[in-house]
Amino acid sequence: MNEKYVAPPYRIKMVEPIKMTTKEERIKKLKEAGYNPFALKSEDVYIDLLTDSGTGAMSHYQWGALMQGDEAYAGSRSFFRLEKVVKEITNYQYVIPAHQGRGAEQVVLPQLVKRDGMYFISNMHFDTTRAHVEIAGARALDVVIDECFDTETYHPFKGNFDLEKLEKTIKEKGSENIAGIIMTITNNSAGGQPVSMDNLRRTKEIANKYNITTIIDGARYAENAFFIKQREKGYENLTIKEIAHEQFSYGDIFLMSAKKDGLVNIGGIIAIKDDYELYQKCRTFIVPMEGFPTYGGLAGRDMEALAVGLQEALDEDYQRHRIDQVRYLGDRLREEGVPIQFPTGGHAVFVDCKKICPHIPYHQFPAQAVCNDVYLEAGIRPVEIGSFLLGRDPDTLENLESPLELMRLTIPRRTYTYAHLDVVAEAVIEVYKRREQLVGLDFEYEPPVLRHFTARLKPIK
Ligand SMILES: *Cc1c(COP(=O)(O)O)cnc(C)c1O
Repeated sequence: MNEKYVAPPYRIKMVEPIKMTTKEERIKKLKEAGYNPFALKSEDVYIDLLTDSGTGAMSHYQWGALMQGDEAYAGSRSFFRLEKVVKEITNYQYVIPAHQGRGAEQVVLPQLVKRDGMYFISNMHFDTTRAHVEIAGARALDVVIDECFDTETYHPFKGNFDLEKLEKTIKEKGSENIAGIIMTITNNSAGGQPVSMDNLRRTKEIANKYNITTIIDGARYAENAFFIKQREKGYENLTIKEIAHEQFSYGDIFLMSAKKDGLVNIGGIIAIKDDYELYQKCRTFIVPMEGFPTYGGLAGRDMEALAVGLQEALDEDYQRHRIDQVRYLGDRLREEGVPIQFPTGGHAVFVDCKKICPHIPYHQFPAQAVCNDVYLEAGIRPVEIGSFLLGRDPDTLENLESPLELMRLTIPRRTYTYAHLDVVAEAVIEVYKRREQLVGLDFEYEPPVLRHFTARLKPIK
């Protein structure tokens, strides 16, 4: 039925022991963590699928490059090495490092907000991106295609912009009030779902028509390019790098959390196609926020490892295995009837918890309930992507209802084996079998922004 899964194009040179806990220990630890897996100690986690952000393994080339870091405060040789690689991949003229994706966001997004009452439109804003849009005094609108919310039906590019909705939103709000169009590739929040080249091209055409800046939020731009190669006609024979070039041609600005397709543990990138004035503003603004523009919050050695990692992520053998690990876990779950976002995307399997727990309402966070039970079952740490993450309306302070209640099983890069993924599949299937016994959650403490990171919860008896 399935195509054969691809074995890793690497061998293991160094190992980090992990240990299994007992069920009694996990019950205690989860309670102490306020029923929020973000508060668990990683030592109490057996397989950590919280995120693929900065959790991957570096290659020996990257570890070698670390030793060559130039730690000069200004004009570091490592910066120029990184700049060269980023320019080569993007064809953009200006490059500024940042400490991670949100560092890049906090520097760039406020420069685009000229006055009160402005909007950013995205296929789907990532949570920190949304937070920085709001901190900058603007509002975030999502116009992803409806197919994205139908987890069962196959669509090759569920991350696509709904182009009609996009143009309608621009007209409704007034093009002069749109601070930018943010192309999130892949679409993290909806399942690491790719955006097609055709959709990026048409989105850019609309942006040009209304004279609106386009921003590529491209943490997983290389995974997106790989999907285009696999699924979009006309791209089968291009290299991932060639596809990436075309992707970048539809953006004016590139923001990247390098903790994803940069294959490093920390790092971010700002790249600007040709707007010198914007570049100058960012260079000025980054100094008090992140650091001098030739290090932006990174050590010289971090920039060296990133320069190498960016190139490794464009390797097709690497991508094929990476995407196959995700497909493997998704297939195992689907075989047992567990509802997931299908087809699987780039960095994670997203389990549809609205379908698993229809008895838990959105404001009691059904996906969080499933995540917690998966931890109790086998020490695996997933993460909720649903109403708990979405938070409250900044104007009315009502709990927002997320269109999807997802448990994300995020696969770190080059880190776990297929045998680990079997342990994950078996645990999720066990929880699925006892789904009717799961209960919702209520707040014990709720912070005012990005609440999912630090909130404390309690099960509703
Ligand atoms: C991770 C991510 C960010 C934020 O990056 P950090 O490195 O976590 O600060 C922004 N956008 C997208 C699409 C992401 O996946």
